[in-house]
Amino acid sequence: MPDNDFGPIAEPIFNKVAIIGLGLIGSSLARVVRLRNIARSVVAADSSQAVCDRVMALGIADEAHTGVADAVVGSDLVILCVPVGAFRDVGAQMSSHLVPGAIVSDVGSVKSAVVDALSAFIPEGVHLVPAHPVAGTEYSGPDAGFSTLFRNRWCIITPSESTCGEAVDKIQAFWAACGANVERMTPAHHDLVLAITSHVPHLIAYNIVGTAADLEEVTQSEVIKFSAGGFRDFTRIAASDPTMWRDIFLANKGAVLEMLGRFNEDLAALQRMIRWGDGQGLFELFTRTRAIRRSIIEQGQETPVPDFGRGGPDQFK
Ligand code: NAP
Repeated sequence: MPDNDFGPIAEPIFNKVAIIGLGLIGSSLARVVRLRNIARSVVAADSSQAVCDRVMALGIADEAHTGVADAVVGSDLVILCVPVGAFRDVGAQMSSHLVPGAIVSDVGSVKSAVVDALSAFIPEGVHLVPAHPVAGTEYSGPDAGFSTLFRNRWCIITPSESTCGEAVDKIQAFWAACGANVERMTPAHHDLVLAITSHVPHLIAYNIVGTAADLEEVTQSEVIKFSAGGFRDFTRIAASDPTMWRDIFLANKGAVLEMLGRFNEDLAALQRMIRWGDGQGLFELFTRTRAIRRSIIEQGQETPVPDFGRGGPDQFK
Protein backbone atom coordinates (compact mmCIF):
# COMPACT_ATOMS: atom_id res chain seq x y z
CA MET A 1 0.00 0.00 0.00
CA PRO A 2 1.65 3.31 -0.98
CA ASP A 3 2.13 5.91 1.80
CA ASN A 4 -0.47 8.34 0.46
CA ASP A 5 -3.10 5.58 0.84
CA PHE A 6 -2.53 5.46 4.61
CA GLY A 7 -4.20 8.74 5.55
CA PRO A 8 -7.51 9.26 7.38
CA ILE A 9 -10.42 7.09 6.25
CA ALA A 10 -13.64 8.76 5.06
CA GLU A 11 -15.75 8.04 8.18
CA PRO A 12 -14.68 6.67 11.62
CA ILE A 13 -15.82 3.07 12.14
CA PHE A 14 -16.17 3.47 15.93
CA ASN A 15 -17.01 6.31 18.23
CA LYS A 16 -14.81 5.47 21.21
CA VAL A 17 -12.19 2.72 21.32
CA ALA A 18 -10.83 1.49 24.65
CA ILE A 19 -7.42 -0.14 24.35
CA ILE A 20 -6.45 -2.20 27.39
CA GLY A 21 -2.67 -2.68 27.65
CA LEU A 22 -0.50 -0.12 25.87
CA GLY A 23 2.58 -2.16 25.02
CA LEU A 24 3.92 -2.89 21.55
CA ILE A 25 0.58 -4.00 20.11
CA GLY A 26 -1.80 -1.72 22.05
CA SER A 27 0.27 1.40 21.40
CA SER A 28 0.62 0.52 17.71
CA LEU A 29 -3.16 0.21 17.53
CA ALA A 30 -3.63 3.56 19.31
CA ARG A 31 -1.26 5.18 16.80
CA VAL A 32 -2.93 3.79 13.68
CA VAL A 33 -6.45 4.47 14.99
CA ARG A 34 -5.49 8.12 15.46
CA LEU A 35 -3.52 8.42 12.24
CA ARG A 36 -6.33 7.02 10.13
CA ASN A 37 -9.23 8.43 12.17
CA ILE A 38 -10.64 4.92 12.65
CA ALA A 39 -12.42 6.05 15.85
CA ARG A 40 -13.47 9.47 17.12
CA SER A 41 -11.61 8.97 20.40
CA VAL A 42 -9.04 6.56 21.89
CA VAL A 43 -9.02 5.77 25.59
CA ALA A 44 -6.16 3.79 27.08
CA ALA A 45 -6.03 1.60 30.19
CA ASP A 46 -2.85 0.10 31.56
CA SER A 47 -2.11 -1.22 35.04
CA SER A 48 1.12 0.76 35.04
CA GLN A 49 0.92 4.49 35.86
CA ALA A 50 4.27 4.99 34.10
CA VAL A 51 2.81 3.53 30.90
CA CYS A 52 -0.29 5.79 31.20
CA ASP A 53 1.96 8.84 31.63
CA ARG A 54 4.02 7.83 28.63
CA VAL A 55 0.93 7.30 26.47
CA MET A 56 -0.26 10.82 27.25
CA ALA A 57 3.23 12.25 26.63
CA LEU A 58 3.35 10.48 23.26
CA GLY A 59 -0.09 11.91 22.47
CA ILE A 60 -1.46 8.58 21.24
CA ALA A 61 -4.69 8.55 23.32
CA ASP A 62 -7.23 11.10 24.50
CA GLU A 63 -7.27 9.67 28.05
CA ALA A 64 -5.24 7.08 29.96
CA HIS A 65 -6.41 5.28 33.12
CA THR A 66 -4.91 2.67 35.42
CA GLY A 67 -8.40 1.24 35.95
CA VAL A 68 -10.01 -0.82 33.20
CA ALA A 69 -13.56 0.28 34.12
CA ASP A 70 -12.79 3.98 33.51
CA ALA A 71 -11.75 3.21 29.94
CA VAL A 72 -14.53 0.78 29.11
CA VAL A 73 -17.47 2.99 30.10
CA GLY A 74 -19.17 4.34 26.97
CA SER A 75 -16.79 2.60 24.54
CA ASP A 76 -18.31 0.89 21.51
CA LEU A 77 -15.11 -1.11 20.97
CA VAL A 78 -12.89 -2.58 23.70
CA ILE A 79 -9.67 -4.30 22.62
CA LEU A 80 -7.63 -6.33 25.08
CA CYS A 81 -3.90 -5.98 24.35
CA VAL A 82 -2.54 -7.47 27.58
CA PRO A 83 -0.70 -10.82 27.95
CA VAL A 84 -3.09 -13.76 27.57
CA GLY A 85 -2.69 -14.74 31.23
CA ALA A 86 -4.27 -11.41 32.27
CA PHE A 87 -7.46 -11.79 30.18
CA ARG A 88 -9.60 -13.28 32.95
CA ASP A 89 -8.61 -10.50 35.34
CA VAL A 90 -9.37 -7.78 32.76
CA GLY A 91 -12.64 -9.53 31.81
CA ALA A 92 -13.79 -9.45 35.42
CA GLN A 93 -12.94 -5.75 35.74
CA MET A 94 -14.71 -4.66 32.55
CA SER A 95 -17.79 -6.89 32.49
CA SER A 96 -20.30 -4.74 34.38
CA HIS A 97 -19.17 -1.54 32.61
CA LEU A 98 -19.68 -2.68 29.02
CA VAL A 99 -22.47 -0.85 27.22
CA PRO A 100 -25.13 -2.74 25.19
CA GLY A 101 -24.10 -3.13 21.55
CA ALA A 102 -20.38 -2.81 22.36
CA ILE A 103 -17.87 -5.12 20.69
CA VAL A 104 -15.14 -6.77 22.75
CA SER A 105 -12.09 -7.89 20.80
CA ASP A 106 -8.46 -8.70 21.52
CA VAL A 107 -5.07 -9.30 19.93
CA GLY A 108 -4.06 -12.41 21.90
CA SER A 109 -1.69 -14.84 20.22
CA VAL A 110 -3.87 -17.84 21.15
CA LYS A 111 -7.59 -18.00 20.53
CA SER A 112 -9.34 -21.02 22.15
CA ALA A 113 -8.04 -20.12 25.62
CA VAL A 114 -8.99 -16.48 25.10
CA VAL A 115 -12.56 -17.39 24.20
CA ASP A 116 -12.69 -19.63 27.31
CA ALA A 117 -11.30 -16.84 29.50
CA LEU A 118 -13.60 -14.07 28.22
CA SER A 119 -16.95 -15.71 27.40
CA ALA A 120 -18.23 -15.63 30.97
CA PHE A 121 -17.63 -11.87 31.13
CA ILE A 122 -19.55 -10.88 28.00
CA PRO A 123 -23.05 -9.65 28.99
CA GLU A 124 -26.17 -10.11 26.86
CA GLY A 125 -26.14 -7.62 23.95
CA VAL A 126 -22.33 -7.30 23.85
CA HIS A 127 -20.45 -9.05 21.02
CA LEU A 128 -17.18 -10.96 21.36
CA VAL A 129 -15.09 -10.99 18.17
CA PRO A 130 -11.58 -12.32 18.94
CA ALA A 131 -8.70 -11.35 16.66
CA HIS A 132 -4.97 -11.93 16.31
CA PRO A 133 -2.80 -9.65 14.20
CA VAL A 134 0.10 -11.79 13.02
CA ALA A 135 2.58 -8.95 13.34
CA GLY A 136 5.10 -8.00 15.96
CA THR A 137 8.69 -7.44 16.93
CA GLU A 138 10.77 -8.59 19.89
CA TYR A 139 10.36 -5.17 21.56
CA SER A 140 7.82 -4.29 24.28
CA GLY A 141 6.21 -1.21 25.78
CA PRO A 142 4.52 1.96 24.46
CA ASP A 143 7.68 3.32 22.82
CA ALA A 144 8.11 0.15 20.76
CA GLY A 145 4.83 0.64 18.87
CA PHE A 146 4.45 2.21 15.41
CA SER A 147 1.44 2.96 13.24
CA THR A 148 2.42 0.73 10.31
CA LEU A 149 2.99 -2.46 12.31
CA PHE A 150 -0.09 -4.19 10.87
CA ARG A 151 0.31 -3.00 7.31
CA ASN A 152 0.26 -5.83 4.79
CA ARG A 153 0.29 -8.33 7.67
CA TRP A 154 -2.46 -10.85 8.30
CA CYS A 155 -5.03 -10.47 11.02
CA ILE A 156 -6.98 -13.64 11.86
CA ILE A 157 -10.44 -13.18 13.35
CA THR A 158 -12.14 -16.11 15.06
CA PRO A 159 -15.83 -15.32 15.68
CA SER A 160 -18.18 -18.13 16.68
CA GLU A 161 -20.93 -19.13 14.26
CA SER A 162 -23.53 -17.38 16.43
CA THR A 163 -21.70 -14.03 16.59
CA CYS A 164 -23.65 -11.06 15.20
CA GLY A 165 -22.58 -10.66 11.54
CA GLU A 166 -22.58 -6.88 11.74
CA ALA A 167 -20.11 -6.94 14.65
CA VAL A 168 -17.81 -9.32 12.75
CA ASP A 169 -17.94 -7.10 9.66
CA LYS A 170 -17.05 -4.05 11.77
CA ILE A 171 -13.99 -5.80 13.23
CA GLN A 172 -12.99 -6.90 9.74
CA ALA A 173 -13.31 -3.28 8.54
CA PHE A 174 -11.35 -2.09 11.59
CA TRP A 175 -8.36 -4.32 10.82
CA ALA A 176 -8.52 -3.53 7.13
CA ALA A 177 -8.32 0.16 8.08
CA CYS A 178 -5.25 -0.66 10.20
CA GLY A 179 -3.67 -1.93 6.97
CA ALA A 180 -4.08 -5.67 7.61
CA ASN A 181 -5.38 -8.44 5.37
CA VAL A 182 -8.10 -10.25 7.27
CA GLU A 183 -8.88 -13.96 7.33
CA ARG A 184 -11.51 -15.79 9.38
CA MET A 185 -11.04 -19.22 10.97
CA THR A 186 -12.09 -21.20 14.03
CA PRO A 187 -10.16 -20.66 17.28
CA ALA A 188 -8.96 -24.30 17.27
CA HIS A 189 -7.64 -24.07 13.70
CA HIS A 190 -5.95 -20.76 14.48
CA ASP A 191 -4.16 -22.35 17.44
CA LEU A 192 -2.84 -25.25 15.32
CA VAL A 193 -1.63 -22.97 12.52
CA LEU A 194 0.09 -20.58 14.93
CA ALA A 195 1.60 -23.45 16.93
CA ILE A 196 3.74 -24.42 13.92
CA THR A 197 4.29 -20.97 12.40
CA SER A 198 5.02 -19.05 15.59
CA HIS A 199 4.89 -20.89 18.91
CA VAL A 200 7.17 -23.86 18.15
CA PRO A 201 9.73 -21.64 16.34
CA HIS A 202 9.88 -19.45 19.46
CA LEU A 203 10.32 -22.53 21.65
CA ILE A 204 13.18 -23.74 19.43
CA ALA A 205 14.84 -20.32 19.66
CA TYR A 206 14.45 -20.18 23.45
CA ASN A 207 15.87 -23.70 23.65
CA ILE A 208 18.90 -23.23 21.42
CA VAL A 209 19.87 -19.95 23.08
CA GLY A 210 19.44 -21.61 26.48
CA THR A 211 21.61 -24.56 25.38
CA ALA A 212 24.35 -22.21 24.20
CA ALA A 213 24.20 -20.28 27.46
CA ASP A 214 24.73 -23.51 29.43
CA LEU A 215 27.65 -24.86 27.38
CA GLU A 216 30.85 -25.45 29.28
CA GLU A 217 33.21 -26.44 26.47
CA VAL A 218 32.47 -23.31 24.40
CA THR A 219 32.77 -20.00 26.22
CA GLN A 220 30.01 -17.36 26.31
CA SER A 221 32.34 -14.89 24.63
CA GLU A 222 32.93 -17.33 21.74
CA VAL A 223 29.17 -17.82 21.32
CA ILE A 224 28.69 -14.05 21.08
CA LYS A 225 31.77 -13.46 18.91
CA PHE A 226 30.86 -16.07 16.28
CA SER A 227 27.07 -15.59 16.46
CA ALA A 228 26.79 -14.46 12.81
CA GLY A 229 26.95 -18.14 11.86
CA GLY A 230 23.18 -18.40 12.48
CA PHE A 231 22.88 -18.18 16.25
CA ARG A 232 22.12 -14.45 16.31
CA ASP A 233 18.93 -14.96 14.24
CA PHE A 234 17.66 -17.21 17.04
CA THR A 235 18.66 -14.68 19.69
CA ARG A 236 16.36 -12.07 18.13
CA ILE A 237 13.35 -14.35 18.60
CA ALA A 238 14.57 -15.53 22.01
CA ALA A 239 14.63 -11.89 23.17
CA SER A 240 10.80 -11.75 22.99
CA ASP A 241 8.83 -10.81 26.09
CA PRO A 242 9.04 -13.58 28.74
CA THR A 243 5.58 -12.92 30.25
CA MET A 244 3.82 -12.96 26.90
CA TRP A 245 5.51 -16.17 25.78
CA ARG A 246 5.07 -17.99 29.08
CA ASP A 247 1.33 -17.28 28.76
CA ILE A 248 1.19 -18.41 25.12
CA PHE A 249 2.75 -21.82 25.85
CA LEU A 250 0.51 -22.41 28.85
CA ALA A 251 -2.59 -21.32 26.93
CA ASN A 252 -1.87 -23.26 23.71
CA LYS A 253 -0.54 -26.41 25.38
CA GLY A 254 -2.44 -28.97 23.26
CA ALA A 255 -1.53 -27.60 19.83
CA VAL A 256 2.07 -26.87 20.80
CA LEU A 257 2.61 -30.39 22.18
CA GLU A 258 1.05 -31.88 19.04
CA MET A 259 3.39 -29.91 16.75
CA LEU A 260 6.40 -30.57 19.00
CA GLY A 261 5.71 -34.31 18.67
CA ARG A 262 5.93 -34.03 14.89
CA PHE A 263 9.00 -31.81 15.14
CA ASN A 264 10.78 -34.36 17.34
CA GLU A 265 10.05 -37.18 14.87
CA ASP A 266 11.43 -35.12 11.98
CA LEU A 267 14.47 -34.15 14.02
CA ALA A 268 15.14 -37.83 14.74
CA ALA A 269 14.94 -38.51 10.99
CA LEU A 270 17.49 -35.76 10.34
CA GLN A 271 19.75 -37.18 13.03
CA ARG A 272 19.60 -40.57 11.27
CA MET A 273 20.45 -38.99 7.88
CA ILE A 274 23.55 -37.39 9.39
CA ARG A 275 24.57 -40.57 11.21
CA TRP A 276 24.25 -42.72 8.06
CA GLY A 277 25.73 -40.13 5.70
CA ASP A 278 22.50 -39.71 3.72
CA GLY A 279 23.62 -36.60 1.82
CA GLN A 280 20.89 -37.01 -0.78
CA GLY A 281 18.17 -36.95 1.92
CA LEU A 282 19.66 -33.84 3.53
CA PHE A 283 20.00 -32.08 0.18
CA GLU A 284 16.39 -32.83 -0.78
CA LEU A 285 15.03 -31.51 2.50
CA PHE A 286 17.13 -28.33 2.37
CA THR A 287 15.98 -27.73 -1.22
CA ARG A 288 12.32 -28.02 -0.15
CA THR A 289 12.81 -25.63 2.79
CA ARG A 290 14.54 -23.07 0.60
CA ALA A 291 11.47 -23.01 -1.67
CA ILE A 292 9.25 -22.18 1.34
CA ARG A 293 11.42 -19.17 2.17
CA ARG A 294 11.07 -17.99 -1.45
CA SER A 295 7.26 -18.27 -1.31
CA ILE A 296 7.17 -16.16 1.86
CA ILE A 297 9.19 -13.44 0.12
CA GLU A 298 7.02 -13.66 -3.01
CA GLN A 299 3.89 -13.17 -0.89
CA GLY A 300 5.33 -9.97 0.66
CA GLN A 301 5.60 -11.39 4.20
CA GLU A 302 9.40 -10.93 4.25
CA THR A 303 12.02 -9.02 2.31
CA PRO A 304 15.00 -10.60 0.53
CA VAL A 305 17.32 -8.05 2.24
CA PRO A 306 20.10 -10.14 3.81
CA ASP A 307 20.07 -8.36 7.17
CA PHE A 308 16.32 -8.51 7.71
CA GLY A 309 15.48 -8.67 11.37
CA ARG A 310 18.47 -6.72 12.56
CA GLY A 311 17.32 -3.18 11.90
CA GLY A 312 14.99 -2.83 14.93
CA PRO A 313 11.44 -1.50 14.58
CA ASP A 314 12.53 1.23 12.14
CA GLN A 315 12.90 -1.34 9.38
CA PHE A 316 9.11 -1.73 9.22
CA LYS A 317 8.24 1.97 9.12
P1 NAP B 1 3.69 -5.65 26.04
O1 NAP B 1 4.47 -4.76 25.13
O2 NAP B 1 4.37 -6.34 27.16
O3 NAP B 1 2.44 -4.81 26.62
C1 NAP B 1 1.47 -5.31 27.48
C2 NAP B 1 0.98 -4.17 28.35
O4 NAP B 1 -0.18 -4.61 29.11
C3 NAP B 1 2.01 -3.69 29.37
O5 NAP B 1 2.05 -2.28 29.41
C4 NAP B 1 1.47 -4.28 30.68
O6 NAP B 1 1.85 -3.51 31.81
C5 NAP B 1 -0.02 -4.18 30.45
N1 NAP B 1 -0.78 -5.06 31.35
C6 NAP B 1 -0.45 -6.30 31.80
N2 NAP B 1 -1.43 -6.80 32.58
C7 NAP B 1 -2.41 -5.85 32.62
C8 NAP B 1 -3.67 -5.78 33.25
N3 NAP B 1 -4.14 -6.79 33.99
N4 NAP B 1 -4.42 -4.64 33.09
C9 NAP B 1 -3.96 -3.61 32.32
N5 NAP B 1 -2.75 -3.62 31.70
C10 NAP B 1 -1.98 -4.74 31.84
O7 NAP B 1 2.94 -6.80 25.20
P2 NAP B 1 2.59 -6.88 23.64
O8 NAP B 1 3.76 -7.43 22.91
O9 NAP B 1 1.97 -5.62 23.19
O10 NAP B 1 1.51 -8.07 23.67
C11 NAP B 1 0.18 -7.82 24.08
C12 NAP B 1 -0.74 -8.90 23.53
O11 NAP B 1 -0.57 -8.97 22.11
C13 NAP B 1 -0.48 -10.31 24.07
O12 NAP B 1 -1.71 -10.94 24.34
C14 NAP B 1 0.20 -11.01 22.89
O13 NAP B 1 -0.11 -12.40 22.89
C15 NAP B 1 -0.38 -10.30 21.69
N6 NAP B 1 0.47 -10.25 20.52
C16 NAP B 1 1.79 -9.91 20.63
C17 NAP B 1 2.59 -9.87 19.50
C18 NAP B 1 4.06 -9.51 19.61
O14 NAP B 1 4.83 -9.83 18.70
N7 NAP B 1 4.49 -8.87 20.66
C19 NAP B 1 2.04 -10.14 18.24
C20 NAP B 1 0.67 -10.42 18.13
C21 NAP B 1 -0.10 -10.49 19.28
P3 NAP B 1 3.15 -4.00 32.66
O15 NAP B 1 4.31 -3.91 31.72
O16 NAP B 1 3.17 -3.04 33.78
O17 NAP B 1 2.85 -5.43 33.08
